[in-house]
Amino acid sequence: MNCYYCKNVCIKKGKQNNGTQKYYCKACEKYQQESYVKNAYLSGIDKMLSETNL
Ligand SMILES: [Zn+2]
Repeated sequence: MNCYYCKNVCIKKGKQNNGTQKYYCKACEKYQQESYVKNAYLSGIDKMLSETNL
């Protein structure tokens, strides 16, 4: 997957206690979850759309 913030490739970096795969972006030095990033991305699109409609 790619980083939500900088779009660089994130590497797999361990898992959470619930088994969710965690990813690490070397550029941002941030940990991310695939589902979290996807949801953030979708909510970002919703925000863009709503702003466009204004
Ligand atoms: Zn990044």
